[in-house]
Amino acid sequence: MNSGSELIRFCHKVYEKEFVAAYDGNLSIRLDSSRVLITPSGKNKGELSENDLLEIDLEGKVLRGSGRVSSEFRLHTYIYKIRPELNAVVHCHPVYTTAFATAGEGFTTPVFPEFILHLGKVPLCRYATPSTEDLIRSIEPYAAFSHAFLLENHGAVTAGKDISDAYYKMEKLEHTAKTLFTARKLGREKTIPRFKLKELYEVAENKFGIIPDKRNKFI
Ligand SMILES: [Zn+2]
Repeated sequence: MNSGSELIRFCHKVYEKEFVAAYDGNLSIRLDSSRVLITPSGKNKGELSENDLLEIDLEGKVLRGSGRVSSEFRLHTYIYKIRPELNAVVHCHPVYTTAFATAGEGFTTPVFPEFILHLGKVPLCRYATPSTEDLIRSIEPYAAFSHAFLLENHGAVTAGKDISDAYYKMEKLEHTAKTLFTARKLGREKTIPRFKLKELYEVAENKFGIIPDKRNKFI
């Protein structure tokens, strides 16, 4: 379900979970075909209340509210414009996920079956200056099929059918990054056997709605 109170609930959660520090990150929900509710710039997500949220149109014009709109609003409205089935966007800097993004590595090899079922392929989007059009261009190659993106040297973005879905994708991403990091401390990760992959991709597509990346499979 999407509502201002739900959006605030997940703003508090991203701070409690340490997916953001200080004033980092931004979260939004789609209200209807032309309006978005988004967090303001320069405020800690753990301290936000519903009155702080801003209603904007898809070009970033403030329709209601008095704060400064998040500098990353373009990232949010771009996703809403091209993916009508997605109604919430979460951008954070979780430590392990951001570490992988900084090491130049996306989550594109098949290691964890449930990660593939819930998130599919999570690409690494080349480095771009935050809050610019260039950041949009960096996610463009993957935007038609991906529900989650790593931003090189920066952080991550997830999108979902509602704010709960987008948030839990971020939580799953960070948990996976932490698990993979731990596996590497033990030596290395094993990938899922090739002969089991076709079956897994079919379940991901047919039961979980993961859109396959036709240009470049996991292997
Ligand atoms: Zn950021």
